[in-house]
Amino acid sequence: MKWFGTCTDIDDQKRNQQSLEEQVRQRTAALVEANAHLTEEMRERERAQREMNLHTENLVQELTERSRKGALLARMGELLQSGTNLTEAFSIITGFAPKLFTGWRGAIILLNSSRNLLEVAGVWEDCQLSSMFFDPNSCWALRTGRRYSVQAGDHSAPCAHATGVIGSYVCMPVLAHGEALGFIHFQIPEGKLELSESEISLVGTFSEQIGLSIANIRLREALRGQSIRDPLTGLFNRRYLEETLDREMHRVVRAKQPLGVLMLDLDHFKRFNDTFGHDAGDAVLQEAGSLFSKKIRAEDIACRYGGEEFVLILPNADLAMMSARAEELRAEAKKLNVVRNGRLLGKITISVGVAAFPAHGSTPQELLAAADAALYQAKSAGRDRVIVAKGDGTEASESTAAGR
Ligand code: GH3
Ligand code: MG
Ligand code: MG
Repeated sequence: MKWFGTCTDIDDQKRNQQSLEEQVRQRTAALVEANAHLTEEMRERERAQREMNLHTENLVQELTERSRKGALLARMGELLQSGTNLTEAFSIITGFAPKLFTGWRGAIILLNSSRNLLEVAGVWEDCQLSSMFFDPNSCWALRTGRRYSVQAGDHSAPCAHATGVIGSYVCMPVLAHGEALGFIHFQIPEGKLELSESEISLVGTFSEQIGLSIANIRLREALRGQSIRDPLTGLFNRRYLEETLDREMHRVVRAKQPLGVLMLDLDHFKRFNDTFGHDAGDAVLQEAGSLFSKKIRAEDIACRYGGEEFVLILPNADLAMMSARAEELRAEAKKLNVVRNGRLLGKITISVGVAAFPAHGSTPQELLAAADAALYQAKSAGRDRVIVAKGDGTEASESTAAGR
């Protein structure tokens, strides 16, 4: 038996095979690596996309928040400008502040008219204050004219008014036309004191707007004060009396309540002028005016009607109450001791006419005419007395309490 066979050298084949396998391995490895890179890159891109979305979301949120606060601030400004008085202004400010500065407490603290005392004018969100009054030097913001911030626990240079404040705080001066009016004090109970740019700008605009509004209101009130007050006595003037009496009459007619008018005239006043000079006469008018304004209730109105004639309006007072009040004033006037240049001026006496709604009229003119007629009667009857108008005011009767 014979064997036939072929003998092939397979070394080359094997080598080729191995090289191919190696190539496949390498390419697979390269592919895996490339794939891993790709996946990593994809992840990276997704992450970046997510970050960008978040950033955009934050930005949109911040912009929305900013425009919300901008609108709030504009609304606050509008309300402050719309003929408000200071009391109303402080309630507007304390109402808006918590919406503008979420989570912050605060107070508005202003210098008084003589600028020697700081007074708390309004507080929001339970702001912790050790007093309602402070020394004008107690706030660094007010002293430097710039925002002053103190980090919680930093005791290096605290504001004296902030004694006992736990947490961080920021004070911002309230200025108007370069003049310091006071400051706004913000307490930030939570977290660290790191104001964002938009918070800094909000704090600035808020206090600026408040400063200008307060200055405007004060100016308006001063101008109004000048136009409705008598400069010598500080009482209301005749114009104000006529306006007010008109308004009060409408109110009491609607409410079916009484209203009294006292017309008072200083007796022989001309003698003070003639004997002691015009300035002495002025001093007598001031003393008498001050007595009348002191002796009335908060809801009553005291006016200088002309020369040495005064009118008091007493809402809700009936005739008996008014006569009693008039008698009291007559007695008090006699006790006045006016001294001028070291000289005691003579005794002051007054005559008073009393009229009331509804007994003596239902219009301001009718009431004033009735009171005037009663006053005339008091003068004719010898002065230093109170006369109550009778009927339609043409006849009058002497007050039962009158006595000289
Ligand atoms: P009678 O008891 O009748 O009221 O007499 P009388 O002197 O008080 O009243 P009369 O009307 O004769 O004089 C009022 C005077 O008041 C005349 C006027 O010069 C003076 N007078 C008016 N206004 C002022 C003022 O603002 N200051 C001073 N000092 N005098 C004034
Ligand atoms: Mg007189
Ligand atoms: Mg007179």
